[in-house]
Amino acid sequence: MCDVDVPQPDAGGVIVRVRVALTDGTDLKAFRRGHPQMPMPTRFGHEFSGDVAAVGENVVAFEPGDPIMTVHSAPDGTCWWCARGEEELCESVMTTKILGGYAEYVAVPEHIVRRNAFRKPEHLSYEAAAFLEPLACVVHAQQMLAARTGDAIAVIGDGGFGILHALVARANGMRAILVGRRAERMALARELGVAETLDARAGDVGAALRAMTNGRGVDAVIESTGAADVWEAAPAYVRRGGTVVLFGGLPSGTRASFDAARLHYDEIRLIGPFHFTPRAVRAAHDLLVAKAFDVEPLISARYPLDRIGAAFEDLDGGSGLNLKFAIVPGGGVA
Ligand SMILES: [Zn+2]
Repeated sequence: MCDVDVPQPDAGGVIVRVRVALTDGTDLKAFRRGHPQMPMPTRFGHEFSGDVAAVGENVVAFEPGDPIMTVHSAPDGTCWWCARGEEELCESVMTTKILGGYAEYVAVPEHIVRRNAFRKPEHLSYEAAAFLEPLACVVHAQQMLAARTGDAIAVIGDGGFGILHALVARANGMRAILVGRRAERMALARELGVAETLDARAGDVGAALRAMTNGRGVDAVIESTGAADVWEAAPAYVRRGGTVVLFGGLPSGTRASFDAARLHYDEIRLIGPFHFTPRAVRAAHDLLVAKAFDVEPLISARYPLDRIGAAFEDLDGGSGLNLKFAIVPGGGVA
């Protein structure tokens, strides 16, 4: 914890008084052992919502007091990748992102306000609104997947991202099968509307998925564990012509090997989506505003800002669901 001055907005930016910031696996990894893109000490927290506390002189979309939901990055709209519409790969999207949601105030600069910030509607809680960023990652991955209505999608991994993937797939008309190892997380997923879950400890996951799909295998697998052995196992779960979405990032230098004959003769597509586009942020916003599914139950506990260290220690070693924690400045429930 540090005391810093309340930031000032740039001409097109806003200052957000944070109401809720969510913990995320990236923050936990950085807290534990540092992160290549986050020199220590650093500001943490990139999933947040709050109220506009101040606006720059050129801002017209927001006024002080407006509830706001936003993500922590936006493409520049000017580079070669942006011109191609591959804005998730924008040359500057990673270097111009903001961190600092675990604070009372955070400055959101003009490029983000212009592309990726929305007024939070009254009927949506600050906690739900803080899911905009992780949900945008999930939506972007599934936009790249471009599955058809009714496709069977196996999501491997029962963490927060895995459950969000299953919920989004189902909301978009797919058949979602969540494959996990923790009974209480899969029970929560079923309560939220994921009809089918599969216990990975119960036996051969590939055989079980084939049994659920007339022997063919699922149309797509979304790998959401960030474990190299799951990356390598995933192509065996899809049907001929199926797609494997490698969503859970692995450390630089990690190698994974695949059966070349399976990839070629059975036309298995491997895709590795990263980050998100403004189009995905908009679609994630629309899912939240429409309340396509509940996200608040994915928050396992709430901590005041001055106990953030304890929150990460509990997230690291504690028990229970431990999916995501909400960090609440001032300690009240948002
Ligand atoms: Zn760009």
